[in-house]
Amino acid sequence: MSELLAWYDRERRDLPWRRTRDPYAILVSEVMLQQTRVEAVIPYYLRFMERFPSCDSLASASLDSVYEMWAGLGYYRRARNLQATAQAVVLAGGFPASLRDLPGVGEYTEAALASIAFGRPAVALDGNALRVWARYFAYEGAVLTTAARRFFVERVLGLIPADRAGDFTQAVMELGARVCLPRQPRCLVCPLQSGCQALARGLTGSIPAPVARARRQKVALCALRIRRGDQVLLERRSGDPFLAGQWVTPWFFEPFAEVGPGYVERFPGSSPRRVGTVSHGVTFRDLTVEVWEWETTRETCEPEQRWAGPDARLPRLASLVLEA
Ligand code: SF4
Repeated sequence: MSELLAWYDRERRDLPWRRTRDPYAILVSEVMLQQTRVEAVIPYYLRFMERFPSCDSLASASLDSVYEMWAGLGYYRRARNLQATAQAVVLAGGFPASLRDLPGVGEYTEAALASIAFGRPAVALDGNALRVWARYFAYEGAVLTTAARRFFVERVLGLIPADRAGDFTQAVMELGARVCLPRQPRCLVCPLQSGCQALARGLTGSIPAPVARARRQKVALCALRIRRGDQVLLERRSGDPFLAGQWVTPWFFEPFAEVGPGYVERFPGSSPRRVGTVSHGVTFRDLTVEVWEWETTRETCEPEQRWAGPDARLPRLASLVLEA
């Protein structure tokens, strides 16, 4: 694996979380990088670390302020879990030897943190690493299975150099992101080419085995933009788990004709008008949001509601509703 590490030393991107061994900072980056691209994460990571530079600061923050710094990254459960992890670390007086005991730390995060922050040999298997190892060992079965993970862990553990466990983990991730690409792996420049069994057997196009995709569900929503001057009404979302607990413009799974009149009565003003639709994809759902707007004369609002100015940081879907 010396070629892999030499390649990493030459080619590694200078990312903010690679300039530290602080386990908290590495934890934040790993959680943000789940389901989000590196380039998109960088500004969020920098802002988040400026606001919450330590486990203590994150643990004692209000959940609203954590959501505010997460707004736009999506998958808000990650933010809740990250704060729960920070609170557990503070309670324990530091990161415990068994990282898996921390709430919100799964198999992948445990291995990434153990190797990158603590230099312990551990095999972190995210999507990129699974693709690299499936090809390297010409593993033709489904990769998202316990059997596949066990197969890779057993073989890869012995390849990790004792003095560079963290770099090894990051080198594999980097290789998957930039060389061992899903569709057209760049085998000619790959530092693993001499040992890669998929390359030797002409199987790079068929490994990893395709994953059966869940069918996406189409969902229609209606959102209300109730304005008062340059402010807009927000509600804390409750009920269904989608964005639960967050401040968003009111929205519903029912059409405007069902839910709009009740709001018009409570927030009277100009006539509501349909301003357009917004499309947004989340996990397995494609949302189409019909946006309605009016100006109200009411100054107060109700419990779990507030008026927000133009610079409020909101979840992505709520921002799209404001821009429609
Ligand atoms: S040689 Fe090709 S298929 Fe094998 S690990 Fe490298 S890029 Fe991936």
